[in-house]
Amino acid sequence: MPFSYYKNLNTKEKSIYRQSDKIREIKLKNIMSLRESITNIKIFLEKEDKVKLEKKIKFFLDQITDSLEIQKINIKILSSRPSNNWGELHGLYEQAEGRKKAKITLWMKTAKRKQVIAFKTFIRTLVHEISHHLDYCFFDLPDSFHTEGFFYRESSIYKQLVKA
Ligand SMILES: [Zn+2]
Repeated sequence: MPFSYYKNLNTKEKSIYRQSDKIREIKLKNIMSLRESITNIKIFLEKEDKVKLEKKIKFFLDQITDSLEIQKINIKILSSRPSNNWGELHGLYEQAEGRKKAKITLWMKTAKRKQVIAFKTFIRTLVHEISHHLDYCFFDLPDSFHTEGFFYRESSIYKQLVKA
């Protein structure tokens, strides 16, 4: 069963949606070294060291994109999450455009109480944005929809990186 917004998509989008929905997992390579990077990310997130955090995430992203032989992703870490009347923005993925590389933006702190975001939430958000990149660059989908398959892939990556 597709999500309710499916009925509002055009024929081409529906076809992309169905392709996305069919793919349920992705196998990462070099899991042990990826997990080591995740540990480093945890350390510098908790230290609130934005510069080193950004470096560790960049290293981690390069490990993923290099092992899958796909285009690289840039990372930008910002302090507090922006908020507005619909809630807080957790992360953002921007596709590559011309000479500009794909970019993930993540926020270190909550908007209201300015607390550092919980490690698992932070990694979930990072994995979510990476999943958008994989849709475009690994699965060659022309669009990246939030399908059930997408969320399965997101969970599959998360579980490989973070032991339950
Ligand atoms: Zn998303």
